[in-house]
Amino acid sequence: MQKLTKRERYYKSALKCKYGLTLEKYNAMISDQGNSCGICRKPLSPPPNRNVCVDHCHVTSVVRGILCQSCNSMIGCAKDSPEILLAAANYLERIINEPS
Ligand SMILES: [Zn+2]
Repeated sequence: MQKLTKRERYYKSALKCKYGLTLEKYNAMISDQGNSCGICRKPLSPPPNRNVCVDHCHVTSVVRGILCQSCNSMIGCAKDSPEILLAAANYLERIINEPS
């Protein structure tokens, strides 16, 4: 078995404490997502990596997936609202497809 670095041990402990996730479950979730962000599909670096976020429901604390920092911030700014995110996507499509 590979010995964990101090930083990896801290990360492992934080995952368990904050989200109830073992490092093995966390790694399996990333692997199940093809080692990429659950939204933009950007490749995720192996943990511990500050650009990798555990997406979770702020009401129930249920872990929903693993995201890059940009996508995690995006859905947070949209207050986890599919309606806001769809409206933003529609807005951008309208603007991008608008004849100039
Ligand atoms: Zn992303």
